[in-house]
Amino acid sequence: MAWKTVKKIKDIQRIQPNLPDYDLTCSTFSWENIRRELDGLPDGRGLNIAHEAVDRHANGPLREHLAIRWLGGSGTVLDYTYRDLQEQSNRFANVLQQLGVKKGERMSALTGRIPQLYIAVLGTLKTLGVFCPLFAAFGPEPIYQRLQMGDVKVLITTENLYQNKVMGLRDRLPKLQHILLVDREEDAGEGLWSLPKRMAEASGSFTIPATDPEDMAVLHFTSGTTGMPKGAIHVHNAVLIHYMTGKYVMDFHPGDIFWCTADPGWVTGMSYGIIAPLLHGITNIVDEEDFDAERWYGILDKQKVSVWYTAPTAIRRLMRMGVEPCKQHDLAHLRLIHSVGEPLNPEAVMWGQEVLGLPIHDNWWQTETGGIMITNFPSMDIRPGSMGRPLPGIKAEIVSRVAKNMVEVVPEHDRVGELALKPGWPSMFRGYLHDDERFRNCFADGWYLTGDLAKRDKDGYYWFVGRADDIIKTSGHMVGPFEVESALMEHPAVAEVGVIGKPHPMIGEIVMAFISLNANFKPNEELRMELIGFGRKRLGSVVAPREIKFQDNLPKNKAGKIMRRLLKAREVGMPEGDISTLETESGEE
Ligand code: ATP
Ligand code: MG
Repeated sequence: MAWKTVKKIKDIQRIQPNLPDYDLTCSTFSWENIRRELDGLPDGRGLNIAHEAVDRHANGPLREHLAIRWLGGSGTVLDYTYRDLQEQSNRFANVLQQLGVKKGERMSALTGRIPQLYIAVLGTLKTLGVFCPLFAAFGPEPIYQRLQMGDVKVLITTENLYQNKVMGLRDRLPKLQHILLVDREEDAGEGLWSLPKRMAEASGSFTIPATDPEDMAVLHFTSGTTGMPKGAIHVHNAVLIHYMTGKYVMDFHPGDIFWCTADPGWVTGMSYGIIAPLLHGITNIVDEEDFDAERWYGILDKQKVSVWYTAPTAIRRLMRMGVEPCKQHDLAHLRLIHSVGEPLNPEAVMWGQEVLGLPIHDNWWQTETGGIMITNFPSMDIRPGSMGRPLPGIKAEIVSRVAKNMVEVVPEHDRVGELALKPGWPSMFRGYLHDDERFRNCFADGWYLTGDLAKRDKDGYYWFVGRADDIIKTSGHMVGPFEVESALMEHPAVAEVGVIGKPHPMIGEIVMAFISLNANFKPNEELRMELIGFGRKRLGSVVAPREIKFQDNLPKNKAGKIMRRLLKAREVGMPEGDISTLETESGEE
């Protein structure tokens, strides 16, 4: 793919990045050195995420520094210093211990982004319980699946969510023993406890038990984009990646104000919406509300956000609204913008440059990797459309599967193959819960196989091609949906696009695009033909879509990712498969 580099234009960018020289940092990098930048539990009792994120700062000069600023939907603002977080998470840890939660037992939260969620995560990690995130917008079935698969023992939730989504599941969840209600002043019966009451009665002191870095910390379910969500097991040692990527990717500096828009129900919202900023002793903004362009620009402006981590789906929504809403706000404090979750079209990178005054830095990782693996580093010029380069300490390759359990490394540049990572980085998942075979099948010949197809250019930048399941085989060619989608995104009428391979008796599959249009464009035959012509000119006739369908709301899962498998299943009349994480399609925009 042809690329242009984007140079930074804001003066504020002149802050010296934590990684000024990629090759130098890679050549001198060691995990031992990263570990030395962390504290470790007193008396050599191991490594615990919550100690590094909270107690380390609460016991030092950052004690009174603002750790979390919570922006409530009704306009309420609540501030928590590192000392507050320490005290509250200690109380929560004591509450769990009183309920008899033991090391390795699972605890979940179904609350929405409220302060108690953040306190619960940190408190659980202190007790050596395992946190299993949920997303409050899930319906009862996905909630059931996760609570059941995760053997969850304690759930924290609101009275309303309990009545509407959990109560009816309890007969089927014998292992769920305790419900802690955040908005109930008194206990409501056996196993249905008032969290405020228990927190008030609990001690604000807690000693974190000895923590083996290999102790399980978080059980994360994948987004369910390609099928049934899988429960990925993560351990306390993952803190090394959270810290290292906070340093080299997010480029945290003292005094930074960080906002990660992802919900902690997804791995991004946990690793970067909670842990990484706290590890660096900076201020983490939490917004209770969902996407709203005006509100978001307002937060960037009023909270003086300096580092912002968001997702392509949100960026595309902002792009749709044009320049005006942004013009009303002062984004002078913004120094870095990052994106993850789906491929970021070059169009979006350039839009950031033009409208926000900063390009958007794409990075790639998965629930299974626990943290960012490939990124466009702040010190490098961005190649729009590229995911960037691997983190120091991370070895990536493009491989091809030659037989079951056998892969070959593809040495040439610009060749498409599967993205593979050398196992052994600290935040690598340690298994899929209850599915050892699936876990084993992710590895071959000493590589972890990501299931994503990509290529690497001659300078070592990685380019996403598509998920292996989504790749289109047409007339003997392999076509990645991302390339086609990015080309169509360049047309002014196109707001969002999902590309699939539609089975065809002669040529295997034809490339087909589902397009949602920008507000001032109407779907009609003329525009359809224009877009087909536009695609051909950009991509050539083999790769360009032969069929285009206009569709207002493309199906997305609750993590905001376009579900191409569903577009395809519906188009060809196949079963829809697991749609438990599907976003409600009406009124989505
Ligand atoms: P499931 O595994 O259940 O199908 P999922 O893969 O969407 O769901 P996640 O772990 O949340 O679950 O997402 C990781 C995937 O998201 C990656 O494997 C990749 O396909 C995609 N992805 C993430 N970041 C990027 C990026 N910057 N560019 C391209 N794709 C990305
Ligand atoms: Mg996946």
